[in-house]
Amino acid sequence: MIFKTAKINAFRTWGLLLTMAGMGLMVLGTAGIVFWGQAGKVVAGIGLVLGLITMMGSLGIYFWAGMLSTSAIQIQCPECSKQTKMLGKTDRCMFCKTILTLDPNAANVTAEELEAQQAAANSSTTTNL
Ligand SMILES: [Zn+2]
Repeated sequence: MIFKTAKINAFRTWGLLLTMAGMGLMVLGTAGIVFWGQAGKVVAGIGLVLGLITMMGSLGIYFWAGMLSTSAIQIQCPECSKQTKMLGKTDRCMFCKTILTLDPNAANVTAEELEAQQAAANSSTTTNL
């Protein structure tokens, strides 16, 4: 995740982007019929299938995010005192983007140090949850 936001919000952003991309592909594919007539039908077919796959992917991400948010821990943000949800041991507040952690070892480091740690962890593993 490259966004400086809470993980749940990042999932939603990706889901939305994929939905938009899928719809865009479908619209473009259908527009192919208008522009190229008979030959455009092939383009339309490919566009519709790709768009459908993309939207299925976004559905999967939404579903995954929903599953994850049921296991997310609800806490009160110490910075803005709002109820927020966090995934994993470290996450950002959904409202003020403050980095929150459950890991006592990481609790007293600055945001910059934490990002360096996360970057190091991300390069060795593919998941960052
Ligand atoms: Zn907050």
